[in-house]
Amino acid sequence: MDGFHHGATLYAQANGLGLAPDSTTQATLKAAIDCVGTGLHSGQRVSLTLRPAPVDHGIVFRRRDLGLDIPARFDHVADTRLCTVLAHPEAPQARVATIEHLMAAFAATGVTNALVEIDGQELPIHDGSAQNFIFLIDCAGTVAQEAPRPAIAVMRPVRVEGEDGAFAELTPSHALAGLEAEVAIEFAAPAIGAQSLALPLTGAAIRQELAAARTFCLLQEVEAMQAAGLARGGSLDNAVVVDNDRILNPAGLRMEREFVRHKMLDVAGDLALAGVTIHATLRARKPGHALNNQLLRALFADPANWRQVEGTRPLDLARPKRALA
Ligand SMILES: [Zn+2]
Repeated sequence: MDGFHHGATLYAQANGLGLAPDSTTQATLKAAIDCVGTGLHSGQRVSLTLRPAPVDHGIVFRRRDLGLDIPARFDHVADTRLCTVLAHPEAPQARVATIEHLMAAFAATGVTNALVEIDGQELPIHDGSAQNFIFLIDCAGTVAQEAPRPAIAVMRPVRVEGEDGAFAELTPSHALAGLEAEVAIEFAAPAIGAQSLALPLTGAAIRQELAAARTFCLLQEVEAMQAAGLARGGSLDNAVVVDNDRILNPAGLRMEREFVRHKMLDVAGDLALAGVTIHATLRARKPGHALNNQLLRALFADPANWRQVEGTRPLDLARPKRALA
């Protein structure tokens, strides 16, 4: 079983939850907090500590066992086949995998600056959703910092395409209201079928509409992955498993359209690797970690695609890789 350290809970209830930062201010944790759990693909047991960090620090992963820091940025993404994997820019064998649900939890709680220490190569999967990470952050509490977040507005359409009609695109929106997202999926398995969802990707919406939605996979994929030595930590406790028209989890789904909600949660986590608030309309069909990352790379490949929003922190794409401690 995964264990949480509940010592900070009462403190958070007394002080934390009412002081959520607004969406234009940088924010960090009030206190450090930790948990343990098992990686979905590695099956490895890891312990994780979330620590407060100063203004303009961003989210940085620290491989405690290697003494290396890996900034949570889209240009450090090294693999997207099963999950989103970051690698150290100068030591590419130093990786941290399955970061997307924690990144979505940071987006949900408004945390922009944190140090995430981990003593292994993959984050705990917990129940396959983001809600345990949000619980952890709520227990630590969050605090607004006296600096605006960097924010950009998308100025012209940016589109990337994958196989079988998959695409993701950003287009300019009239209001500076963050990401207005619309996601559609389509699976041959009748238990999933075609689902779509449109939502503003605000912290509140991620928390209320997406956070509890679990990772899912098809039974034949699980069998193939486990034969290849992957999904070693996978079970019905941390994923919805679908066999054609059946959901194998005894308790069924947690919420209606759980599948597309989880895909949108992944989009929110992967796009948080921009490190900035993006004002745009986002449309995606059959999105995945690869497409989500390609979208950010395409957005930032040309400075004419976006402009900095007035009064916000300038975006420094060329800022030096953070020095190692
Ligand atoms: Zn996911």
